[in-house]
Amino acid sequence: MSAESKKAHNFILSLIEEAVREGKHTGKVVTRFPPEPNGYLHIGHAKSICLNFGIAEAFDGECNLRFDDTNPEKESQEYIDAIKRDVTWLGYEWAGEVRYASDYFDAIYDFAVELIEKGKAYVCSLSADQMAEYRGTLKEPGRNSPYRDRPVEENLQLFRDMRAGKYGNGEMVLRAKIDMASPNINLRDPILYRIRYADHHQTADKWCIYPMYDFTHPISDALEYVTHSLCTLEFEDHRPLYDWVLAHISVPCRPRQIEFARLNLNYTITSKRKLKRLVDEGHCDGWDDPRMPTVSGMRRRGYTPESIRTFCDMIGVNKAGGTVDMGMLEHAIREDLNTRAPRAMCVMRPLKVTLVNYPDDQTETLTLPVHPQNPDMGTREVPWTKTLFIDREDFAEEPPRKWKRLAPDQAVRLRGGYVMTCREVVRNASGEIVELRCEYDPATLGVNPDGYKPNGVVHWVSATDSVDVDINQYDRLFNHESPDSDKEGDFVEHLNPGSLVRLTGARVEKSLATPRHDLPYQFEREGYFFFDERLSSASRPVFNRTVTLRDSWAKAKS
Ligand code: ATP
Ligand code: MG
Repeated sequence: MSAESKKAHNFILSLIEEAVREGKHTGKVVTRFPPEPNGYLHIGHAKSICLNFGIAEAFDGECNLRFDDTNPEKESQEYIDAIKRDVTWLGYEWAGEVRYASDYFDAIYDFAVELIEKGKAYVCSLSADQMAEYRGTLKEPGRNSPYRDRPVEENLQLFRDMRAGKYGNGEMVLRAKIDMASPNINLRDPILYRIRYADHHQTADKWCIYPMYDFTHPISDALEYVTHSLCTLEFEDHRPLYDWVLAHISVPCRPRQIEFARLNLNYTITSKRKLKRLVDEGHCDGWDDPRMPTVSGMRRRGYTPESIRTFCDMIGVNKAGGTVDMGMLEHAIREDLNTRAPRAMCVMRPLKVTLVNYPDDQTETLTLPVHPQNPDMGTREVPWTKTLFIDREDFAEEPPRKWKRLAPDQAVRLRGGYVMTCREVVRNASGEIVELRCEYDPATLGVNPDGYKPNGVVHWVSATDSVDVDINQYDRLFNHESPDSDKEGDFVEHLNPGSLVRLTGARVEKSLATPRHDLPYQFEREGYFFFDERLSSASRPVFNRTVTLRDSWAKAKS
């Protein structure tokens, strides 16, 4: 078995390896990723996707994509399309066609009938409130429903009538007959079917009864010959029910449920319900807002599929849980982009520089590497002209000690270009600095100046041959480490008001007039920035800041 070489190790992989070694598992390994189409996928789902597809890949098996679509009111085709797009973008290919739990509604109905015939399920007419009361508590056993001993024939007829639409929403349910005294509340005659007059995105108005998740899931797994049904820890207490269902109906195989800890990430939330609130209440610009921890938001922000998969490998899979630092995710994207992102220069807050000794109508074309450590990525052409822009923050009239940038009568090198010395500061009527008049040294292209030393290197663009752009400087969406831990308060109160700073009128070098759509750029000395296809217009490109060059949050904390 080559699992080791292909995949970061985790306890589930080890468990399957051992079963294979001991001859307890023969045949193909089949897993599934089973999202409910009631929202967009987030980084927590990415962990589950990497795990399920990764396990299948490691054992040359298969992973299905199955929509767990038993709550029609909350689900939609928009979510289905988004989820398919995200799984594909992450780099995974599901086996065969996309599947839907609703594909199995007929089969699930027949299995319910089988349970009734075996005396293992009954139609219960208690109201929801009564049922809660009969259920008991963690400390006290529940009580049997007065409808528990309905004869099989009556149950069959009532269940058929439920399906035929003879009863209203909530009037009756089908329940498993297990044990009202079980210490595991999930086994106290759980509901298998409920009445819901709701149109379904796949089955339209065919059904007015829908099976519950706990009944649907084991059956769907078995019908797909899933061998390992991986789910998050909150389903551990449901496993006895999962096994009970499979033990009492005639399914072709017995999948095994294994639980792992869900991913929690600090400074964000990973709950579809809460993310939906941010969208519905307009706290962000939709599910794919670049600040959202959704796969589509991260894609728009400039995250690469590789960085997300690396992150999932880094955090591993276990039963212990805990919270992962957002810094790890940012580290993963920085590392990936550091080796792959093309370099470019962008001046965020332009300050005009005139090279007083440069001929008025002369221009030169400088050839700079796309990536300084990777010559295979080629070169780019950057025009050098009499007027340039540098960043306002790279000039100080009264520089602090050890200033590494430009100041009066001091010299800096312009990245990839010449060395220049500032000779004059020009102000407007209100005293604001509007221009620097500098002298360039024609003998310094690629060579150190003779007899003096520049302070440092700053980035720049031509003032007359560059592109006007807008920059979205994104930061973390929340300024609280665990925005939803506060049970009294509302997580929305912890939104970071500085999570988006819009800069207009930044300037990028000419080569970015037609920017790449596939990878962010490293804007030298600034960070990584990704072209936003949605916000850009032909005349004004918009770039989203993916991540800064260094982790400023770690510094702020220490
Ligand atoms: P949410 O609470 O965000 O709605 P969910 O579990 O209800 O999540 P599903 O669509 O049912 O969402 O999830 C599909 C799969 O992804 C499930 O197997 C689920 O266990 C897994 N999953 C969801 N959230 C996480 C997470 N934070 N970490 C790891 N796996 C997750
Ligand atoms: Mg769920």
